[in-house]
This record gives sequence, C-alpha cells and structure tokens, in this order.
Amino acid sequence: MDITIFSPGIYTYGAMLIGGVLRDAGHEVTLTRTPEVPEGSLLLASLFSTQHLLDPKIRSLVRRHRERGGTVYVGGPVSAVPEIVLRELAPDAVVVGEGEETVVRLAEEGASETLPGIAYLDGDQAVVTAPAPPAPIDRPLPLIPEDIGSQSIRGASAYIETHRGCIGGCTFCQVPRFFGREVRSRPLESIIEEVKAFRAAGAKRLSISGGTGSLYGSHGCEMNPGAFIALLRGMAEVMGPKNVSAPDIRVDCITDEILDAIRQYTIGWVFFGIESGSNRVLRQMGKGATVREVEEAVERCREHGLHVAGSFIVGYPGETERDYEATKDLVAALSLDDVFISSAEPIPGTPLADLVIRTPRDKNPAFMPHTGEYRALHLTESEARCFDLMMHADMYRPQIRLVTDEVYAAYLAEAKKQGEDIRAATELILRYAQR
Ligand code: SF4
Repeated sequence: MDITIFSPGIYTYGAMLIGGVLRDAGHEVTLTRTPEVPEGSLLLASLFSTQHLLDPKIRSLVRRHRERGGTVYVGGPVSAVPEIVLRELAPDAVVVGEGEETVVRLAEEGASETLPGIAYLDGDQAVVTAPAPPAPIDRPLPLIPEDIGSQSIRGASAYIETHRGCIGGCTFCQVPRFFGREVRSRPLESIIEEVKAFRAAGAKRLSISGGTGSLYGSHGCEMNPGAFIALLRGMAEVMGPKNVSAPDIRVDCITDEILDAIRQYTIGWVFFGIESGSNRVLRQMGKGATVREVEEAVERCREHGLHVAGSFIVGYPGETERDYEATKDLVAALSLDDVFISSAEPIPGTPLADLVIRTPRDKNPAFMPHTGEYRALHLTESEARCFDLMMHADMYRPQIRLVTDEVYAAYLAEAKKQGEDIRAATELILRYAQR
C-alpha cells in the first residue's frame, strides 16, 4: 500500500518510527513535513500539538483528501483525547496512544470495533475501542528521510527515543500520561544501530528525547547511571562527542558520574525544566522538586564544567504576583546560560487542562487583562509575565545580552503568539468539557 506520513514542520522521531514499522510491514511509505499528499495514498497525520487540530492548512488537508476518496488516520500525542480529534479534523480514525502495532492493522484491515487502540465516529457517536497494550520497546529502524541532515531542532537533526515513560507527574506534561510512569528502556545495541543509521543518512547531531534522559535503564525509581553512561559513550563513539546532546534531565536525577559523562561524551549542556521560583507553584505543578534542589543541581553542574539551560512556565492558574517575583529572583540568582520561557499551556488530557476547566476565566492569567507596567501594550497577565521574564533573563545571563529594539519586538511577538495559541487551546478544551 502507498502510505504518506505527514509530520507538520519537522520530522519527529515518532513519525519516523511509524514509517519504519509500516515499511517493514511491506508498505511503500513517504514521510513529509508539508501538508501535501498524492491522490490514492493513505494519509497518516502524526500530530504532536493541540495547535495542529486548529491549523486551517491541516484541517483542509484532511478534508480535501477525504473528499477525493482517500483515507486519513491521525495519531501522535494529540490522540490523548480522541473525541476532540474526531470532531475537529473528522479523519476516518484516530490511533490512540502508542500506535506501532495498531497502525499496521489499521492500514490493512480498516477501522472496526474489534481493533484495539483506535477511535472513530459511528454516525455522530464516538467509538473508542479497548486500549491497545503498550507497544514493544524494541523496534525496527526508523524511516530516516534523506534530508534529515538539514533539520535542526534546538541544534539536533533528530531527538531519538532511548526509553519511554517518566517517573514524574508534572501536571502540564503528557509524557507520563502517554507512555506511563514506568520507564521502559530500549536495548543499547538497538539504539546504537539506529544512531549509525542516522549518521549514515546525514544526521549531524543527535539528541536524546524521552522526558528525562538519565532515567535510561532505570528500574522503578532506582536510577541506573551505568546504563546511561554506556548509552552516552556508545552514541559519542559513533557521532563524536560534539554531536551528541542529552539535554532534558530532572534536577533530582543527576549524580556526579552522570554529570562527568555528560561533559565527556556530549556537547556539555544540561537542560532543566525548572518552571518556577515558587515552591507553592512547584507543588501545584507536581514537579516533585523544590527551589533549593534546583539551586543545588545548577551549582553541581557548574562544578562539573557544564553549561546549564532552564525552562520556566509563567501564568499557571493561581500564580500570584509574589510567586512570579520569586521566579524572577531565581532567574537572577541562577544566571543560566540559556533560558526558555513559556506561558502555561493546558494540553488536553493533562491535570493542568482539568484545572483550567475549573478556573473561572477572570481568574485565569491567560485571559486576565494585565494592568501593571505593560498595560499600554494590551497584554494578558500571562503574556506580560512571559514578555517580562524573557527580558529579565537576558539581564542575568553570564554574558549580558542587550535588549535591542529588534529583540524587544521579537520577545513581545513571541509572548503574544503564545498567548493566542493558549487561549485557542483553552477554548477548545472548554468546548469539549461542556459536552
Ligand atoms: S519530569 Fe519532565 S517528562 Fe517527566 S513528567 Fe515532568 S516534565 Fe514530563
């Protein structure tokens, strides 16, 4: 069968993996980042953002392909709430959860109530079949596109999956909901074979995805630093240490040997999801870490000669001015090498989405008009904090970055864009919560 996998904007690892599974099942598979699909091809849209459900180009692609008699299936992280996907995009079916095994049967047999792990509309009724068991963690080589070397996601040609699941329970995050809280690690040989294939296809740098990199090889809550170090060493032997990064790590999942290995076998950066400088907000977010632990982790990384980047979330429902000031203080005190700021985004199916549903609009920072310092810019409270923290962070980097007019305009545009997207996602969630 001729199958086109559409992965909007970037070749995600998930789309490449599904491509490899379908290729090995004997199908002719093409991977594309643009919303185009040849007539007669089965379209599989691999969608990873709520915004994809609202994107006019993607909506039109699905509609046109079905009008021409084509079949469209949708999978990926958006499948967490399949009814939203069914009613917003109207595909033939949704692959729910881990889809490696489901997708092969779906392509060959079509949707039916006897196929686990799918959802489809029967008239106006949404049918969600029994959950499919978690997919086997070992898998065929992904379908790696010829132009993978041209892709750069935070500097990496691709983020490869070394394990699934996360022991954390952050309220805003889909990882533990999609993949579970039990960590399942791939065999090292299989990962290294894949790294070699990526390199042969032209990948310049590879990064490790999967929530917290250093959980690779762990059992329950017991970390296995030896497994993670062997993974980094193996990847560096193929790619060269300057072409490996292991960025996302929980502040409570580091040891001295892990940090030494990151310095020796990677580009030498650690990326912490810090989120807030307020312990109250961190507790609400279910981060499982305190401000003190963050400070200690950053200090420890520096002692090991590593660069540290951190992400922060502003505008979490209930975040007070005092909480936000605590975040600004922490940003100043840590003086991180790089900082990423985002406004709290309620991803459907997460506890944060449930909280947003329960939060009155006039108490939700994504909708509350900002009445402080930036009131002339007509921002919401989330947008104002996002914008303000971006500029604030620049003042406290190890090398000061001047906020020029261009930088000011870019930060303002980014904060507003995030605000618009979050309000659109919130409206969507609220619409379905009322059904
Ligand atoms: S630690 Fe990271 S991957 Fe795990 S739940 Fe929290 S944000 Fe998600």
